[in-house]
Amino acid sequence: MDTPSLRVLLVEDDPALLLNLGQQLRRLGHEVFEATTSQQAWRVFLDKTPQLILLDVLLPDNDGFWLSKQVRAHEGRHWTPILFLSALVQEDDLLRGIQAGGDDYLFKPVSPTVLAAKLHALSRQIRMRDELEQAKLTLVELNEQLRHKSLHDELTDLGNRRGFDERLQDYVAQARRDQRPLTVLLCDVDFFKRYNDRLGHIEGDACLRHIGEILKQVCRRPLDYAARYGGEEFVLLLPNTPAEGGLTFAMALQHALDRDGRYHPDSAVASHVTLSGGFVSLIPDGSTTPGSLVQQADEALYEAKARGRYRFVNLSACMDTGDLSTAPRILNPTPRVA
Ligand SMILES: [Mg+2]
Repeated sequence: MDTPSLRVLLVEDDPALLLNLGQQLRRLGHEVFEATTSQQAWRVFLDKTPQLILLDVLLPDNDGFWLSKQVRAHEGRHWTPILFLSALVQEDDLLRGIQAGGDDYLFKPVSPTVLAAKLHALSRQIRMRDELEQAKLTLVELNEQLRHKSLHDELTDLGNRRGFDERLQDYVAQARRDQRPLTVLLCDVDFFKRYNDRLGHIEGDACLRHIGEILKQVCRRPLDYAARYGGEEFVLLLPNTPAEGGLTFAMALQHALDRDGRYHPDSAVASHVTLSGGFVSLIPDGSTTPGSLVQQADEALYEAKARGRYRFVNLSACMDTGDLSTAPRILNPTPRVA
């Protein structure tokens, strides 16, 4: 009978029995921690986290039932098998042991064969428990991965449309409760179709990934959120951000793209990749819906394109980064396209 090695806490106040059982356990290949009182056993239990407890019932201080209850209360969902050892041979004692959280009972004197057999059976239970725990952890992990996948865009690892819809709903509700401003910024890569046509879709994908990285960098605050809205459109949620903050953010984003200077072979507004964006900043009231916010941001985005692209516009606050930007605006000698 091959029983895997276990870390066993042996609690026995009779020195001769302690010696004898300790030897038996070690001979079976187990690692043994010894204790002669329940208080000592409790400290060893906390310190060594044994896989199995061999527990005498009658001890000089609290009895084994007390220790068993302590262990069960402390462990919560975890479970360390407890094997009671006792000279008490009444059925009631056995019942008390099981009620106190014990798993089995061995009557003294303990036969080496019976001890080996019980340990073997318990180690099988421990293994099954560990396998179940492992399977549970794997499931939790897989679930987490699935959830991540369902809410994230595969190309950029930003949020996806579904993740955005969820987050927007939460943020609108939170902003309404706190009476704090929320900024929604919708943006679009300028002349992205031409970029794709000239450089191919693989380069196009690389460009979107790159913009995703820049968006992650500019979303510095923990609750700022960026998602790919679809195609070459991105959307940002900036909680606790009034229009002035939205403008500062848009300027920073525009400067980040200017500094980055990723080459665009066929843009009518610059020689590098740029964005047009529309944003709206407000404290949601009873009539504000997630849809109405996106619509306002979309109208502002439309206006940004109409005004010549390469800018961020907030219609209700009359803001336009195109009028404020200090970056050289036209780097390509191609005509501007409205
Ligand atoms: Mg005793």
